Amino acid sequence: MKYDTDNIFAKILRGEIPCKKIYESDHALAFKDINPQAKIHILVIPKGPYVNMDDFSQNAKNEEIIDFIRALGEVSKLAGVSEYAQGKGYRYISNNGPDGGQEVPHLHFHMVGGESLGRMLSKK
Ligand code: 5GP
Repeated sequence: MKYDTDNIFAKILRGEIPCKKIYESDHALAFKDINPQAKIHILVIPKGPYVNMDDFSQNAKNEEIIDFIRALGEVSKLAGVSEYAQGKGYRYISNNGPDGGQEVPHLHFHMVGGESLGRMLSKK
């Protein structure tokens, strides 16, 4: 799979487009989603050029994978929804490929929470 260096998250990573940053580590960046689907909606992305989970899980270095998974935990904590922040829970979603409804071709996890999220799937 070829990575499109012009995708919107690549531009955010290069600082060409602003974002409301929540968290940053060596290999991950988290920022608010521009069109929130829940009271709290944060995107967590690896800094490396990975199209989706297939690409990341196969091709990322172990240190990038570890850092990214830890970033997911840090973000839910910073957002106040994790057990470590006495929060009430949250949901991570990663859309991959056409059936997954992925729009931006740079791996990202949506962290949604801050309210009860109901059932997991609604196929619209
Ligand atoms: P996908 O459908 O690919 O899983 O999710 C892409 C997400 O990126 C959407 O939730 C959309 O609102 C968000 N998004 C698209 N463009 C921008 C942008 O320029 N800035 C931010 N912060 N989020 C964006």
